[in-house]
Amino acid sequence: MKVSIVYHDIIIGMKKVKSGATKRREKAAAREEIANHPKLTHFLKPLVQTRSVSIPTETTNNSDCHYLNTRVESDRLICESTSNAITNRPIFLSDDPSEWPDNVSDAQRCDIVKRVFKKIEIDFPYSLERRRFSLNYYNRKMKNGEIFERTWLIYSLNSNNVFCFCCKLFGITSSPFRQRMNTWEGLSKKLKEHETCSAHFKCFEQWMTLRKGIANQATIDEKQQKLLHKERIFWRAVLERILDITLFLSARNLAFRGSDTAIGSKSNGNFLGVFELLAKYDTVLNELMQRIQDKETKEHYLSNDTQNELIRLLAREIESKILSKVKKAKYYSIILDCTPDVSHKEQMSIILRSVTCTPGVGIDISENFFGYLTVNDTTGKGLFNAFLNQEKNWDLNILDCRGQSYDNGANMKGKVKGVQARFLEMNPKALYVPCANHSLNLVIVHGALSSISAISFFGVLSRLYTLFSSSPPRWEILKSCVAISVKPQSDTR
Ligand SMILES: [Zn+2]
Repeated sequence: MKVSIVYHDIIIGMKKVKSGATKRREKAAAREEIANHPKLTHFLKPLVQTRSVSIPTETTNNSDCHYLNTRVESDRLICESTSNAITNRPIFLSDDPSEWPDNVSDAQRCDIVKRVFKKIEIDFPYSLERRRFSLNYYNRKMKNGEIFERTWLIYSLNSNNVFCFCCKLFGITSSPFRQRMNTWEGLSKKLKEHETCSAHFKCFEQWMTLRKGIANQATIDEKQQKLLHKERIFWRAVLERILDITLFLSARNLAFRGSDTAIGSKSNGNFLGVFELLAKYDTVLNELMQRIQDKETKEHYLSNDTQNELIRLLAREIESKILSKVKKAKYYSIILDCTPDVSHKEQMSIILRSVTCTPGVGIDISENFFGYLTVNDTTGKGLFNAFLNQEKNWDLNILDCRGQSYDNGANMKGKVKGVQARFLEMNPKALYVPCANHSLNLVIVHGALSSISAISFFGVLSRLYTLFSSSPPRWEILKSCVAISVKPQSDTR
């Protein structure tokens, strides 16, 4: 490197101002160099070699990755297919450098670097000028008398030329030692010039790095791949755990978020709380916690948005599972009900009922809640269209519906424009049954207002509730005297 800098300085000392053409040429060379800059897949081994150092097998044995044994199989497939895709090119070139293409591929370069080239020692042929190559050129004699072998100089038997091994493989310049050098006159001087030029140094360095990497059975690319693979396994394990936390909280209907989102805070909610608890005992989450605390990563997949996304994805998965069950049973019934929520939006709940008959097991009647649809138009037509859209999204056939049940609202049960009438128009087999619970509730509400004695009875009950519930000491007295409790009148229709 030192020599390169000295050499560069001499050049600058000799000619300080560069001509326009030189500058343009340099710019073009720089652009070309950037375009040909080695990529991550630069240092690759031939097909057989790549397979023998199978990354997943090594990682399976790696104690750092013991937590991932369940997923290694699928990773192996990914890795092998990637390596095959890269190495499935024709890579074997002949030993003669005159037959190597100008743009050697990564795999070809790797293959050639692995081979051992012996110095060709023959009776070298004469050129027309009665000059020829000599064995002396293989060595460089220093001023102090020391002799160094020119490991980079390679003779081509087929073409009677010499090449620079590293410039031929790694270079991008138009140096004669890269193209072909068969002018033997003044060769000593040309060799000295070439071996001290910065382009040659660069190529030589690349050659040595690759050779060292191959000798260690691990190219830079391979190491990088292993690192990436390990990272992928880690994040997959993190995802598994985060999904499990999401499932745990959802199944118990627990709130995810707290009043803040800081890790370590007491009010950061159940999701982060469970994460912190697991991180105490689990190596993967502990590692993630360390990375977050050391500010090594900004992506931790614990944010509110990620939580919502995971809930959505899990809900979609569960929905599709239940839907496939309904589709398998073929026939189904629907239960729709509308209620305004706290933000005064009308929401329609959807429930599907289906019957599964499994020979040898029996009959299973299942009723599944599919969530709420926000509806703006609460007329029979609006509600019916909202349901039809949803049914289309689910890919359910309306003609397979065999029953429909709603509350006793006019928009639902209406004989002409209600949802049930519109439904029957499309599918007469979808039998309408008013919701029995709603009907019973209505009967009792009307019954309670039907006669003076009923009104007095329920009135007294209501007064009793008001009397005791308005004062905790009175409530205590009631509890100590009777084993029953008083309830207010329900407003539900
Ligand atoms: Zn060279």
